[in-house]
Amino acid sequence: MALTAQQIADTVAFHGHLCPGLAWGMRISEAALAVLGARDVDEELIAVVETDNCAVDAIQFLMGCTFGKGNLRYLDRGQNIFTFARRADGRAVRISRNPAWQMPEGALDQSAHTAAIMSAPAADLLLVEELADYIPPDKAQILPSRPCAACGQPTMASRLQTLAGRELCPACLADELANAAMLHPIGVIRNELIAGAAPSRARSARSVIELDERFAPALLGIEENSLLQVLYLLDRAPLDAPLQQHRKTDPAKPLRGVFSLRSPHRPNPLGLTTVRLLEVVGSRLVVAGLDAWDGTPLLDIKPYAPEWDDGENPATR
Ligand SMILES: [Zn+2]
Ligand SMILES: [Zn+2]
Repeated sequence: MALTAQQIADTVAFHGHLCPGLAWGMRISEAALAVLGARDVDEELIAVVETDNCAVDAIQFLMGCTFGKGNLRYLDRGQNIFTFARRADGRAVRISRNPAWQMPEGALDQSAHTAAIMSAPAADLLLVEELADYIPPDKAQILPSRPCAACGQPTMASRLQTLAGRELCPACLADELANAAMLHPIGVIRNELIAGAAPSRARSARSVIELDERFAPALLGIEENSLLQVLYLLDRAPLDAPLQQHRKTDPAKPLRGVFSLRSPHRPNPLGLTTVRLLEVVGSRLVVAGLDAWDGTPLLDIKPYAPEWDDGENPATR
């Protein structure tokens, strides 16, 4: 089921130019359609993409899996891995670039690369693996909106929180919480941990801390630290935190005081995690082990220093 010349021309028009990334996306879509049969009409297909390069535009256009419909999910892993699933029967396929495939000799520029990708046999170009027990992410939810009491923007009900009797959107809530404490968010945390996905949250193998540009000078020397403490605002934790809670919200577990829990539901919604610094790219820090949801406001970064932070230090014995 090769793409038609018209499909290719329309995909290029959608993206704006023909480039190697788009060519990869077209070949990946072609391979996905060969397994799944037809493009999406109304969210019966879902695509999970682990990179956000040009290829994803071809996937949106050809597969009908789009950001707006909510059946395109992006995991920021920087890998060319694309998973497609059909909800009706659970058929799923993971497609990635075949690392054994090489640009032909003599393909020196972008247009030669593009032509090579477009003409290579799919079996050489791609690894296509059918997944037997793939569980696709839940369907996008559409809930009614209500206005935020501070900015007035209609906001999906699930994202509104009540602070001192006023329903606030996430941005205004973060502002008001931070203002009350005279703190100001200095950046944002990006990763694959989707808010509300699980009550007991995992630690992300790779998060990107996007520091506001104006704080970049404060990173001088940061790469000398392998461990960092990251302080952040738990901006989606309910504010009416009971002082005693069940661990991991499991009613079968005994009650404990919130100060003996890592629960995000606290009198002051502050999160603190020790992470490993993997990479510094401009004003972005790539770290491992962060357990904050995607979009969490960043408050502070400190080096982990054994003389202060190690509980086994002589000073604490
Ligand atoms: Zn492109
Ligand atoms: Zn607001």
